[in-house]
Amino acid sequence: MRAGVARERVAGERRVAATPESVGQLVSLGCDVLVEAGAGVEAGHSDASYSQAGATVVSTLEVDDLDVFLHVRPLTPDFVARLPSGAITIGLASPSAELPTVLALAEANVTAFALELVPRISRAQSMDALSSQALVAGYRSVIEAAIRFPRFFPLYMTAAGTVPPARVLVLGAGVAGLQAIGTAKRLGARVSANDVRPASADEVASMGATFVHLDLDAQTEGTGGYARELGQDRAALQRELLAPHVAAADVLITTAAIPGRPAPLLVTTEMVAGMKAGSVVIDLAAETGGNVEGAVAGADVAVATRAGDGSVTLVGMKDAASSMATDASRLYAKNVANLLALMVTDDSADGGADRGATGPALTLDFDDDVIAGACLTHDGVVRHAPTIELLN
Ligand code: NAD
Repeated sequence: MRAGVARERVAGERRVAATPESVGQLVSLGCDVLVEAGAGVEAGHSDASYSQAGATVVSTLEVDDLDVFLHVRPLTPDFVARLPSGAITIGLASPSAELPTVLALAEANVTAFALELVPRISRAQSMDALSSQALVAGYRSVIEAAIRFPRFFPLYMTAAGTVPPARVLVLGAGVAGLQAIGTAKRLGARVSANDVRPASADEVASMGATFVHLDLDAQTEGTGGYARELGQDRAALQRELLAPHVAAADVLITTAAIPGRPAPLLVTTEMVAGMKAGSVVIDLAAETGGNVEGAVAGADVAVATRAGDGSVTLVGMKDAASSMATDASRLYAKNVANLLALMVTDDSADGGADRGATGPALTLDFDDDVIAGACLTHDGVVRHAPTIELLN
């Protein structure tokens, strides 16, 4: 069973889908692991470290002979066309944004597993790349804010006077938001947070932050524990109710998302302009539409304060998880290897998807919720209902 890992081709992507540590796991599953030279360099892993872990490092990865291809960023239709019929891919696929690739995967008879589709159930937590990467992004968002903020986060009582703690407001308290809260707390800030999911109030409190209650009088919880998109009136009301909390914050971190939809607009330019000079806004959703009006992914924008005494720094985060490529890859590669482990059996004569003659086999058990849920394409067809709907 041949598993391949290539250097990621998207500009700015520094993560890698297998680390020397996960190669050890893949080898123990019975995989022959082929790693393209340089694949892990930006995540801190030399070619030699992959060889030592049992992989074969190749200058050119011939993908037409692979059983499994592991990746971070969504594949391109051109790349998919080079994969052999029956191959399995595991990685992020952004199906709603990458429909041509989804069609190419089905057409090439590739069985694609999209990590975004792994069910959010306890048994699949070790395969949940959305959570592992959101953890990195949430942590990083606070570090980026702290670097730009011209003041301390903690309270200091010194002989030269008292420095008050920074007030940090986090909007969207999912995985990334909770990590942002935890990181800001560890830095000593006074933290508050809001989310539209009622369950998030307890989670915010358990992190030691104050929950900002807004009376939106709306059904805010959708299916699968995710938030529901607010109607225009309720979204406007949310912004109105948030305005005084935003104005009081020194640091604002936004992480709000609705699966398969553009990020909700939570903060207008007017609201940013109402903050104090020197304040920092980090929009973690900048790459998916932005929670903050005017945020530009990958750029800092200075927004003049309404008081006319300076500006607020508005940061559109880009490649947040990739910017901490070593730990992001460590977690991601484990997610990938754990998902692959669900498909590997010792019996190569079981009629599964194994194309090799000897060794362990790949068996896809579609009665398993995780396999069925994460499978985007199989047997020449698209299996994920919301993606099928988008394609029609
Ligand atoms: P996400 O990235 O889809 O969204 C981030 C947060 O934004 C969510 O908490 C969402 O409620 C919030 N949000 C959406 N619209 C908003 C708005 N208008 N204002 C304020 N906040 C808004 O979410 P996620 O981090 O992937 O987590 C989604 C859910 O999945 C959560 O309930 C989380 O606890 C749950 N989860 C479960 C597991 C598991 O059981 N294995 C693992 C991870 C996450």
